[in-house]
Amino acid sequence: ITAASLGRLLKARGLRVAAQKLDPYINIDPGTLNPYEHGECYVTADGQETDLDLGHYERFTGIRTTRDNSVTTGRIYSSVIERERRGDYLGKTVQVVPHITDEIKRRIQLKATKEDLDFVITEIGGTIGDIESQPFLEAIRQLRWELGSSQALNIHLTYVPFIAAAGELKTKPTQTSVKQLQGLGIQPDVLVLRTEHVLGDDVRRKVAHFCNVDVEAVIQSQDLPSIYEVPVNMERQGLDAICLKKMGIEPGAEPDLGEWLGFLEKRKNASSVLTIGLVGKYGLQDAYKSITESLAHAGTFHDCKVKAVFINSEEIDRNNVHDRLEGMDGIVICPGFGQRGIEGKIISAEYARTNDIPAFGICLGMQMMVIEFARNVLGYHDADSVEMNPGTTHNVIDLMEGQKTVTMKGGTMRLGEYACSLVPGSRVWEAYGRVDSIMERHRHRYEFNNLFSREFEGKGMSLVGKNPESDLVEIVEIPSLRWYVGTQFHPEYSSTVLKPHPLFMDFIKACIEYGNS
Ligand code: GLN
Repeated sequence: ITAASLGRLLKARGLRVAAQKLDPYINIDPGTLNPYEHGECYVTADGQETDLDLGHYERFTGIRTTRDNSVTTGRIYSSVIERERRGDYLGKTVQVVPHITDEIKRRIQLKATKEDLDFVITEIGGTIGDIESQPFLEAIRQLRWELGSSQALNIHLTYVPFIAAAGELKTKPTQTSVKQLQGLGIQPDVLVLRTEHVLGDDVRRKVAHFCNVDVEAVIQSQDLPSIYEVPVNMERQGLDAICLKKMGIEPGAEPDLGEWLGFLEKRKNASSVLTIGLVGKYGLQDAYKSITESLAHAGTFHDCKVKAVFINSEEIDRNNVHDRLEGMDGIVICPGFGQRGIEGKIISAEYARTNDIPAFGICLGMQMMVIEFARNVLGYHDADSVEMNPGTTHNVIDLMEGQKTVTMKGGTMRLGEYACSLVPGSRVWEAYGRVDSIMERHRHRYEFNNLFSREFEGKGMSLVGKNPESDLVEIVEIPSLRWYVGTQFHPEYSSTVLKPHPLFMDFIKACIEYGNS
């Protein structure tokens, strides 16, 4: 959030920025990780599966990320090892220093060499002392030394715990963490202190004194009602101005945060509360991060606060579905993989359809809407996805042709942006502003089976978005209902604070109307 906020502030000063995340784990990308490990897997337009922080970067800055914005130890090592096999280091011992650290430095600078940028903000995940982050720290030590203070700057984020029993804020972890960094040859230029309670000037002075940091470069990041207030809080304390000054750049006029402040004002004044049920199997705040943020952006746009309630699909059955979903102004059927929690999603889709509650199915959620319709409207009782039931005779969700020969799991799904043609006159066509074609990001292996197209269309589920080349169904909707839409793509990846996604805006509008009806 600090990196994303700094990005927003520098952009608001008219500078060209990119924010990048370095993750010290060995996976090539988080695509094969369970969301319980690091939260949601985010996908860039160019099809890289990445850490969810890239979602924050895009939502805060409005600048699209690419595969270069996400780097893991796995990617660093695999390119070094590939080069070793090719013979690029012939005759040499390949080592962490300099080969791995050189590759890290190259990746940090790659973005700026490809695009015309003023700043690259590189966030290193993890905590000082982690064994796996050592090469990353060594790389930034070297980089700062090579580039000098006018070209490189180190910002260190620490946590200042509050001991409630003693009523005291403790700066010792910050001091220890900075000492460890200094031991590695890195002197932070700026410190950002995460705290639940506001720090007094005395605390900031003490930290400055013990850590060799100017007192005005000790910034506090206290808990705020919304993460979107962080840039404003950082600006008030001059984070962006200090960074510029330290690099010998005259900060000049204040950043233009007009639109951003407008969003915050609208958010604060939002009068009504909308309750949206998120039907999914991962009971973890971060697992559906982009969805909850997209709902919040669209809610603010329509002057309401969205209360997203997680509803565990594994616990939903025919007997309790009414109790679980009653009172929701709208329902999102979430993305996911595998069998667990599937029936609860199908039952929820049926409940939304038969009670005409606005419902938004995303990726697996769309597939569950299709299966529910096939079972209960078309009468195919064994209708299923071959992901869950490979032997079903009514494979309404089938493995994509191109996936049939795929055996490797990592990075092999249908990933990233693809075109989708919209059917004129459909609800989604209206929602997108009557455009004929859109681009959206994907992350799936299975698809709507076009052999059943006619039956679905005949009974009232319209196929309103298709890929123009492959004919893959990208959007389904039931036009006779208030708002019942399923998308094979993930619209949540491209909603930003200043540009909420059209489908989320239209969904929220329908939820408000339903709530008022
Ligand atoms: N498991 C489904 C597929 O692979 C849906 C994936 C998703 O929801 N992201 O097609």
